[in-house]
Amino acid sequence: MSEETHSNTRPTVLKGGKLIDGTGNPPLKDAVVIFENSRIKAVGGEDIKIPSDAEVIDCSDKTIMPGLIDAHVHLAAIRSPEAQRNWPLARVKTTTPLITLHAACNARRMLESGFTSCRDMAGPCSSDRNLEILALREAINLGIMAGPRLVVSGWVVRTGDEPDLWLLLTIPRMPEYVDIPVSRPVDGIQQIRKRIREQIKWGCDVIKIECSPRITTEELNAMSDEAHLWGKRFAVHAITAEETKKAIHANADTIEHGTILDDEAIEMMIKRGVFLVTTMTVYSEKSQERYKAMGVGQSFIESLKVEGEAYAKSVRKAHEAGVKIVGGTDCSRNLLHGDNAIELELMVECGMSEMEAIVASTKTAAEAIGLNETGTLENGKLADIIVVDGDPLKDIKILQDRKKILVVIKDGNIQLRRDMRASW
Ligand SMILES: [Zn+2]
Repeated sequence: MSEETHSNTRPTVLKGGKLIDGTGNPPLKDAVVIFENSRIKAVGGEDIKIPSDAEVIDCSDKTIMPGLIDAHVHLAAIRSPEAQRNWPLARVKTTTPLITLHAACNARRMLESGFTSCRDMAGPCSSDRNLEILALREAINLGIMAGPRLVVSGWVVRTGDEPDLWLLLTIPRMPEYVDIPVSRPVDGIQQIRKRIREQIKWGCDVIKIECSPRITTEELNAMSDEAHLWGKRFAVHAITAEETKKAIHANADTIEHGTILDDEAIEMMIKRGVFLVTTMTVYSEKSQERYKAMGVGQSFIESLKVEGEAYAKSVRKAHEAGVKIVGGTDCSRNLLHGDNAIELELMVECGMSEMEAIVASTKTAAEAIGLNETGTLENGKLADIIVVDGDPLKDIKILQDRKKILVVIKDGNIQLRRDMRASW
C-alpha cells in the first residue's frame, strides 16, 4: 500500500458533504475538515478559511466521519482453504511467523473497510504474550505494514480453561518440527501475576480473562489488581449475568460479550461505568453461513441462532437502561475481518439509532479501549477519518459496502482512495 500512502507536508481539506463528528451531535451540512501532519486543525462549516496551499478533496454528496473502531477482534485467524475445512489441523500446521502474516492480512482488510483502530483480544492462535500481534502493531506503527491503530491484549489462561482444552485436542497431533503458538496455562495467584507482568513487559495494552463459574474470586481480583497496578485496563469475557456480576465485582473495565444480562447486571454496569463491548456479529447470518461452509455441525449453527436472539434482547435492554455500549465483532475463524460494520446494523436492529451505533463504534469505543485522541473529529485530535459514499444515518448498511468507503485516513495519512485501487 506504500505507493498510496503519503504523509502530509501541507494541509489537506475535506470539503463539502455531511459531517458526522462522532460526538453524537447532529450532522453538519457543507462541512470543512482541515488536517495537517497527523492532527485535525479545524472542523466546521463553510465559513472556515481554507489555506491557499491546501490539497482539497471534494466530498460533496459524501459523508465525512471518524474512522470506525472495532473493540473486540481476533486478528490471528488463518486465511487458508485448509483452515476452512479442518481448523485444528491448519492451526497445528501454521507457524508463529505465518500466523503474524495472516493477522497482517486481516488487519489490512479492516483498514480498507474504514476501521482505523481495533483492539485485538488474543486467542487460540496467539502465544502467551500475544507476540504475533505485538509485532504487527510495531510494523504498522513503523509504517511498513498497512493496518488499523492496534490496541493489543494479553490473555490469561488457566489449566482446564476452555482454550487449554483446545490445545489438548490439537497438540497430541502436533509434529515435533512445528512451532505452534500457544498460550500456556498458568495457575495460582503468583503465576497469574507473573504472566500478566510478562505480557505488560512485552507491550500488551490490556489484560483479558475469560470469566467462568470455575474461576475463583481471588484469581479474578489478582488479575484485575495486577493489570490496574500497571495502569492497564482489565477486560473480562463474560457470557452469563452471573459471570458479568462476578467480573464487575472484580473491577472489570469492560465486559466482553455480555450475552445474557439481567436487570441487576445492567444496573451494576451503569453504576460503575463499565462498558459493554457487544460482539453480535459472530451470531449474524453471514457468520452462520461462514461456519456452515466450514462444515461446522448444524447444532452449533442452531445455537448461534438461539444465542443471537437472546443476545439482541440483552443489548436492547442494556441500551434502554443507559449502559455505555461499544462496538466489537469477535471476528476470528469466521474470517469476517473487513465485514466488521455488520455490528452497527445489528445495533440498529436492537433499537439504537444509526447515530448511536456510530457513536458506539467511534467515540465510546475509543474511550473504552484507551484511545482518547481518536474517535471524534475535533480540533487537535488525530486525523483518523473516513469518507463514505452516501449517508449511513439513512442506511447504516452502506458501511458494510467496501466500495462505498472512498477515503481512509489514519494519523493524517491517506491510506486509501477508492478510485486509486482495485477492491478485493
Ligand atoms: Zn473474542
